[in-house]
Amino acid sequence: MNFLKKIIYCNVIPAIGACLRGKNKFINVIYYHDIVDGEGMSFMKTPIELYKQQMEFIARKGLKTYTFDELTHPKCQQQRKGGILITFDDGWESNYSMIFNFMKSLGLKYNIFLAVEKIGVDPDYLTWEQVREMHQSGIVGFGAHTFTHCNMESLDGIDLDQEIHHANDIIKENLGIEAKDFCFPYGAYSSASIDSIIAENVYDRIYTSDLDYTADRDGVIIFGRNGISCNESMAVFKHKLNGNYNVFNTLTHPCRNH
Ligand SMILES: [Zn+2]
Repeated sequence: MNFLKKIIYCNVIPAIGACLRGKNKFINVIYYHDIVDGEGMSFMKTPIELYKQQMEFIARKGLKTYTFDELTHPKCQQQRKGGILITFDDGWESNYSMIFNFMKSLGLKYNIFLAVEKIGVDPDYLTWEQVREMHQSGIVGFGAHTFTHCNMESLDGIDLDQEIHHANDIIKENLGIEAKDFCFPYGAYSSASIDSIIAENVYDRIYTSDLDYTADRDGVIIFGRNGISCNESMAVFKHKLNGNYNVFNTLTHPCRNH
């Protein structure tokens, strides 16, 4: 990133976002993927030491964290100040082995979107026993990330029954609850893919990977999220917790409709 771009990204955008964030009445959402011991990579792998510093900051600040199960209460959805929703994509095994006990020790809650086909099958991913233990603890919520982890930007060749309903059925079989939260793999989606999920009438909340204000569409809430990168500075992390970057797409794509 050259100097000017860095100034704009790290200072100008979040400053504008801080002025306008009152327009966003929903809770701010951040996301991670895999947690690793050692060097991280982009938004996909976060070093455990950096992750711990970030979570200790959240705990020290007294920010309230939520599980998806709690989000059915409108009050929790709208905890814009003093609340944060921590999410993980895919269901990596590290989401149990590296952080479950640590998050318990800090009293922080988090949520995982499962790429359902991988769970209990691929050793890099969680097992259903781990998923159940985490869910029963009351500090980890679970949502769906499709069945096959497919790209839904175009719906050509996408089996919606499998990706939306079957994924939800398998989670229900294993956890005894119906998942109400859905996240697009690869952050890839379109107006048509959002329309199709709303029309299937399974999920109450849809999550993108875009820096957008969260919107309510026909009773389904579409959350923008802030991804935390593997070398995030604490200053940028704090802006992301406050949702100060959520103005970004609103500024750069003022006519965007999703
Ligand atoms: Zn994914």
